[in-house]
Amino acid sequence: MRKQTDNVRSTQNGEVFLTNDIIVIGGGAAGMMAALTAADLGCSVLLLERNAKVGRKLYITGKGRCNVTNDCPPTDVLQNVPRNPKFLMSAVTRFPPEAVKAFFEGLGVRLKTERGGRVFPQSDRAADIIDALFLDLRRKRVEIVEDRARSLLTDADGHITGVRGEHGSYVARAVVLATGGASYPLTGSTGDGYEMAAAVGHTILPPRPSLVPLAAEGEDCGKMQGLSLRNVAVKVRDQKKKIVYAAQGEMLFTHFGLSGPLMLSASAHMRDFGKSRYHLLIDLKPALDEEKLDQRLLRDLSENANRDFRNVLEGLLPRLMVPVVLERTGIPGDTKANSVTKGQRRCLLELLKGFRVDIAGPRPIEEAIVTSGGVKVSEVDPHTMASKKAPGLFLAGELLDVDAYTGGFNLQIAWATGRAAGEGAARSLEMTEGAE
Ligand SMILES: Cc1cc2nc3c(=O)[nH]c(=O)nc-3n(C[C@H](O)[C@H](O)[C@H](O)COP(=O)(O)OP(=O)(O)OC[C@H]3O[C@@H](n4cnc5c(N)ncnc54)[C@H](O)[C@@H]3O)c2cc1C
Repeated sequence: MRKQTDNVRSTQNGEVFLTNDIIVIGGGAAGMMAALTAADLGCSVLLLERNAKVGRKLYITGKGRCNVTNDCPPTDVLQNVPRNPKFLMSAVTRFPPEAVKAFFEGLGVRLKTERGGRVFPQSDRAADIIDALFLDLRRKRVEIVEDRARSLLTDADGHITGVRGEHGSYVARAVVLATGGASYPLTGSTGDGYEMAAAVGHTILPPRPSLVPLAAEGEDCGKMQGLSLRNVAVKVRDQKKKIVYAAQGEMLFTHFGLSGPLMLSASAHMRDFGKSRYHLLIDLKPALDEEKLDQRLLRDLSENANRDFRNVLEGLLPRLMVPVVLERTGIPGDTKANSVTKGQRRCLLELLKGFRVDIAGPRPIEEAIVTSGGVKVSEVDPHTMASKKAPGLFLAGELLDVDAYTGGFNLQIAWATGRAAGEGAARSLEMTEGAE
């Protein structure tokens, strides 16, 4: 372990200069983990966070409960990363979910595992995760400064020498950039890191929304807005009719289209809106195969022979869906049940087993749980998170061109890359000291 260098404070022309071993930009999941790791290794660390408090996004994770990781082996984590999983292999293997759990339990946060391996604090309070990290930052003497970083400082050789913020300049021997993506900007992640990384030579893959509600074509979804369906099965097909996603769960119709857990997960598999078009088939009766559903329809129609078809549908579907289904089948609502033909019954059955919604596109990035795209990973060392473009720079978290499905995997990426970057930055100082 290194001997910690004391922070040095000086003023020039009214500007404040703080000198540290390492500056971490961004007090989110990745940045806090990087700062703690570097401090553990004996570095003096300054954490720059634009908000008054660290971890603002963490408060809203997992609907305020924080799905902190997924209780699975590293290989399963990587299977849940559709983009650049290989890049994460080293970081996730060295700081896998098991180690993340042990880390938080070591800080006194008791955890529990729910359906699908999702790990939460036992208290169901995301605040417990943030408090534990904050207390540990204080214990390890990480200095937290409220300022918004604007640019990275470099010397004539392109080595990173510090950070220029809105309120001062900060000198350091290494900088970890962990400013997050561009989703939920009210939490502080407005995409600043992309500009700072690009200015020192990094390529930025265009940020795109993932785990995001979906806008639908036509008026039908809007007519059913507010309707939540539990236990439906969906299939997503691309324009070549290839199934890109199939799952069962809960969804919601909204004024613009579709939302709810199942739709957010589905969106992560629609990765090529530029080139492809997608549609969704919703199985409204997944517990019944076609034969059983047909028997059920026959029974309902014969038991209600003299009632209007509209009323029969109300026994089969949520009320808000009935007008839409009637319109799609083309069967007038006042048709008597005993007059419904075999062909019309078939048409209804096909609709119930495959209610089609054409997807217009994802909702804006501001509404996305996670940002896909970001700093090109081939320009970053996967073991240390060191920039291959700007010596002295390390990158971590959602800023990188990696993103995962739901289930605690995105935070797992933030913890693991934050850990690797903090360690990489600290070790880089040992190496330069050794060379001196
Ligand atoms: C509603 C919602 C729910 C989610 N739930 C889950 C979940 O339960 N499980 C899961 O695994 N993932 C979840 N995620 C995703 C997860 O929160 C992110 O992937 C993760 O927080 C990324 O961590 P990060 O540290 O890279 O970025 P962030 O957590 O976004 O942190 C970046 C930090 O940098 C700061 N910053 C930005 N620019 C500057 C600047 N110029 N100067 C100084 N500071 C700056 C920001 O203020 C912010 O504090 C959720 C996301 C959302 C939006």
